[in-house]
Amino acid sequence: MTSLSIRWKLTLSSALLLFVLFAGFNAVQYILFDRFIIREEKSSMEKTMNDVLNYLLERETLLYENDIFAVRNMLRPFNQPHQFIRILDRNGERLAAVSDQFPEQLVSSAAVTLAESEQIAADGHTVLVLRSPLTIREFTGTIEIARSLEAFDRIYKAHFSLMIVSILIALALSVAGGRLLAGQLLKPLKSMAETIRKVQSKGLHERMKPQHKRDEISALMNLFNQMMDEVEESFYRQKQFVEDASHELRTPIAILQGHLSMLQRWGKHRPEVLEESLNAAVEELERLNMLAKELLVLTQAEHEDPVHHEAAIDPAAEIDTLLKKAKMIYPQFQFESELGAIESVRIAIPPRYLHQILLILLDNAVKYSTTDQSVRIHGYIGKGASAGDAVIEVRDRGTGISREDMPHVLKRFYRSDKSRSRQQGGTGLGLAIAERLVGRYGGRMEISSEELAGTAVRLYFPLYHDGSERG
Ligand code: ADP
Repeated sequence: MTSLSIRWKLTLSSALLLFVLFAGFNAVQYILFDRFIIREEKSSMEKTMNDVLNYLLERETLLYENDIFAVRNMLRPFNQPHQFIRILDRNGERLAAVSDQFPEQLVSSAAVTLAESEQIAADGHTVLVLRSPLTIREFTGTIEIARSLEAFDRIYKAHFSLMIVSILIALALSVAGGRLLAGQLLKPLKSMAETIRKVQSKGLHERMKPQHKRDEISALMNLFNQMMDEVEESFYRQKQFVEDASHELRTPIAILQGHLSMLQRWGKHRPEVLEESLNAAVEELERLNMLAKELLVLTQAEHEDPVHHEAAIDPAAEIDTLLKKAKMIYPQFQFESELGAIESVRIAIPPRYLHQILLILLDNAVKYSTTDQSVRIHGYIGKGASAGDAVIEVRDRGTGISREDMPHVLKRFYRSDKSRSRQQGGTGLGLAIAERLVGRYGGRMEISSEELAGTAVRLYFPLYHDGSERG
């Protein structure tokens, strides 16, 4: 059974079930019918026996006279087709008998002292025999009534054949029906297997026909399509990522290669080339190093699971700590903060990630600054659409982002002015990393900017309440 296909398994089990039910039902019907007929026949014979006995007792003289002819005439009205009535003497010798379409000799005679009944087979038929002692004054004998159930046997046989035929028809129908039903049930699974095969040979864009029914298999098929959408999207994201990353890695490697070959050719004899190329090589290596680190952070930000409960922090305190560091790194810059409104709230993000996000924003603010070298961090509780969120805003008065660049700045490796941004050491990954990290911890990021006037980046984090993330 294990090596059979589901279609055959379903077919056979439904056929077997139907067969058992049908056969059982028929068998019960058969047995009940059998019992009922025999009981009916027997009680009708008992009634005849009683009638005969009563009649004989009323006319006791008849038997003394030994008038067989009269006795036979008397018995005749009590008889019926396929039955005989026989009177025996005390030795079991036949005295008189009447018979209708049932040869008397088929049943051997037997004298009894107690009433008895038996069921025998004679001439291929069931025969019921009733015997009763008969005592009238000095006469002692036996009355025998035997009835052949020939007609019943015929019905019985016809019923049996009908039963066998109907079982066979039921079996054939159930096999056919089962196969049809199983085929119908398995059709979606087949088409699913077909789609998977197509996915294997033709690619991830293959889908199943969308189902609008509400059954389980349709739900499974729709789920399969959804899963394929996600797999395809993630596949192309990864592909894009690898392409972007390798493209970004190519530039510093090419520059490095150029400087190294220059060193090889002239470096030994021209100290100014040696100096310049070595510096440039070190710079590119630094860039490569940073790119590698940022790529790693980005993939982590995309795949790591957030751990909200262990990571509820006080954002105001963290921002204070971070600003102290920033002042050390960018001493020429002025950092202002206004965090009173978020002093007593908590948000769910590990401090190192909040530091990382804010460092990216501060680094950009510094990188894209102009004459006004000041950055302001403002913490407040959101209103309107962001009601109940802790908002952290980083605002600078630098170059701003142009209208054309705005839709792209969150993309990986995007830099508005490639050459300028390159000089400033940008990789185009900063904002992409920041946005993914914020998203990982249930928050979102918003940028507004005006060219030549400055940029504001706002981070929205849901407030953390004990036992729940949102109030
Ligand atoms: P990068 O490493 O180049 O700074 P980011 O992802 O951090 O990469 O930023 C992408 C682009 O967005 C930058 O190249 C820059 O043009 C623009 N940008 C980001 N932050 C600012 C800002 N504070 N002011 C002006 N432009 C910005």
